[in-house]
Amino acid sequence: MVEAVGVSKSFGSNEVLKSISLTVRPGEVLCLVGPSGSGKSTFLRLINHLETLSSGRLSVDGSLVGYRQVGEKLYELHPKDAARQRREIGMVFQRFNLFPHMTALENVMEAPQRVKRQPKAQVEQRARDLLARVGLADRADYYPAHLSGGQQQRVAIARALAMEPKLMLFDEPTSALDPELVGEVLDVMKELASSGMTMIVVTHEMGFAREVADTLVFMDGGVVVESGQPREVLANPQHDRTRAFLSKVL
Ligand code: ATP
Ligand code: MG
Repeated sequence: MVEAVGVSKSFGSNEVLKSISLTVRPGEVLCLVGPSGSGKSTFLRLINHLETLSSGRLSVDGSLVGYRQVGEKLYELHPKDAARQRREIGMVFQRFNLFPHMTALENVMEAPQRVKRQPKAQVEQRARDLLARVGLADRADYYPAHLSGGQQQRVAIARALAMEPKLMLFDEPTSALDPELVGEVLDVMKELASSGMTMIVVTHEMGFAREVADTLVFMDGGVVVESGQPREVLANPQHDRTRAFLSKVL
């Protein structure tokens, strides 16, 4: 579903990703961990067309992200085609960034209504089903300001799912939450994983990584230092940098 081969990204002279290669197969969950500044968000942003890569190849579901290949040559995608590609990816950020002037239901309906031009009743029914799926059937008419952080983040997940993405990206989805609200968001993500969604999750929740991820990738300084089955990486890290990081988060 996601294939990165030698992906590098520089901001000016600062090379923040240095030849990242990894694969996420359909239905797999990859957890990405590493210290602040190691390039985790930049990697997700590349996948989601929020940055452009400096070198390497990155593809989602067999299509190059942002480019089209003809023979040996790469051509930038037309913005419309790039937008279409991007719609197949859902992203959830640390800050919930819901539209504050819209109810939970309206937030979930917004993108499909704008883009898919389906009948409103159908979009609304699907949005209600998604709110029920994240445990918020009874909060459909609440505005974000009247929801807890955990509830807002669950609405954000429902909103991302409304476009029926092939891939979900999560960038520290629980880091801004009070500790007692973390579990309800992780539970929704677990359910999503067990439903077969392909996911890349940047997180410091090692319990979640151990239980849910197929692969744990440890990044530091823009390189993949170590990756493998979460249980193995957590129980038996091979590199000093991984050990040092894990000793801080476990
Ligand atoms: P954190 O755990 O703090 O979220 P991260 O692993 O997500 O960190 P990134 O946000 O990907 O790290 O940042 C990696 C490096 O890239 C940092 O040194 C950051 O300052 C730099 N960087 C990120 N975005 C930009 C940008 N738009 N312009 C310049 N430098 C950037
Ligand atoms: Mg980040």
